[in-house]
Amino acid sequence: MPQKRYLFTPGPTPVPPEVLAAMAQPMVHHRGPDFRSVYSRCLERLREVYRTDSDVLLFTSSGSGGLESVLANLCVPGDRVLAVSAGHFGERWAEMARLHGCDVHELAYAWGETPSADDLDSRLDEIGGAKIVLLTHSETSTGVVADVQALAAVARGAGALVAVDAVSSLGAVPLDTDGWNLDAVVSGSQKALMCPPGLAFVAVSESALDAAAKFPPSGFYFDWCRTKAGQDVLDAPVTPAVPLVIGLDVALGLLLKEGLEAAFERHIRLGRACRAGVKAMGLELFSPDDDRSAVVTTLRVPDGVDAAALLLDLRDRMGVQLIGGQGALKGKVVRIGHIGYYDVFDITTALAALELGLGEAGAEIGRGAAVTAALEAFEHTKV
Ligand SMILES: *Cc1c(COP(=O)(O)O)cnc(C)c1O
Repeated sequence: MPQKRYLFTPGPTPVPPEVLAAMAQPMVHHRGPDFRSVYSRCLERLREVYRTDSDVLLFTSSGSGGLESVLANLCVPGDRVLAVSAGHFGERWAEMARLHGCDVHELAYAWGETPSADDLDSRLDEIGGAKIVLLTHSETSTGVVADVQALAAVARGAGALVAVDAVSSLGAVPLDTDGWNLDAVVSGSQKALMCPPGLAFVAVSESALDAAAKFPPSGFYFDWCRTKAGQDVLDAPVTPAVPLVIGLDVALGLLLKEGLEAAFERHIRLGRACRAGVKAMGLELFSPDDDRSAVVTTLRVPDGVDAAALLLDLRDRMGVQLIGGQGALKGKVVRIGHIGYYDVFDITTALAALELGLGEAGAEIGRGAAVTAALEAFEHTKV
C-alpha cells in the first residue's frame, strides 16, 4: 500500500474531496457565463463568512499579497502606521509597511504574548495617533489569538483605520468584520477555508475604499478600486486562478452548511482536545491553555530532542506532517494545526504519532494517555 499522508499544519491544511473533485473539472473561460455564476456565488459566500455587507476583494496570490494590498492602497510614503506584533507574522507585516515607505511605529511584544487594548491605547497616545493600525488576529507562529474586537475599538477611537491579518483565523474563530468596524481584513485560501494555497481576500470597508481612492495605488495588480470595479460587473481585472475559485465556492458552501457558529464551536473543542493530549503526555504548552487558542497548538520540544529530526521521522515513517517553529522558536517548538477540514481523529492521529516519535527519540513522556485525554476533552465538554 502506498503510504497514507496526513497534513496537520496550520496551512496548508487538508482539502475535502468535494473541493478537489470540483477543481479537477475541465477549464472554463473566466469571462464566460460558466465562471461568472461561480464567481458571483463565491463573492457572496465570502461576504457571509466575513460577516460584512461591504466588498470582499479576491486576488490570485498567497495571503501575503492581500497584506501587501492593504499597504499599496491605504498608505503613501511617510504615512504613520502603528504595527502591533507578538510573533513572526506581526513582525513581517511591520517590515512590509517599512518597505512601502511608511513611518512605522511598533507595539511589539515578546513572541507568545497576547496584545492588550490598554497598551495599544497608551502607545497610540504616545505617538500622537496613526493613519492605520495593523493587527494580527491569529498569530500562527505562536498559537495566540488576539482580542481583535477590543484592539480595533481602541484604534478606531483614536481615529485610525484598522487592518487585520486574519489569514489563519477566518472560518476558525469568530470574526465580525462589520460588527467590529474593521476596515481591511485579509485572509487566504489555504488555512481554515479548506482550499489549496493561491487565493487572497480582503474585506474593505467604505472608509477604507474612500481612503484608497484619495491617492493612486502604488502598483497595478493589487489596485482595490480597479478590482472592485471589475467584481461589480463580475469581470475580474486579471485572469483569476479559475480552478481555485471553483474549489473555494464548494469549500465555502461546506463551511456555511455546517454553520459558522458550529464551526467555531468545533474549533474550540479541537483546541481543547489537542491541549489535553499534549498535557497528558507531560509536554509543556507554548501556546496559551485557553479556548481562544483554537487555531494551532504549540508545544515545547523536550530537552535533548532534535526537533527537525523528530519532524522528519514523523513524516518519513508515519506519513504525518507537523511543523516546527519559525524564527527564534526554530528547534524549540512543534506546532499542530487544527483548522479547516479537521476532526477529533485528526487530533488523536497527530498525538499518537508525536507520542511514538518522542518515545523513540528517548524523551521521557507519559505513554498511553494522550489519545484518551483528547477524546474526553472533545466529547465531554460543552462550549
Ligand atoms: C499563513 C499566514 C500568512 C501568510 O500567508 P501566505 O499565504 O503564506 O502568504 C500571514 N499571516 C498569518 C497569520 C498566517 O497564518
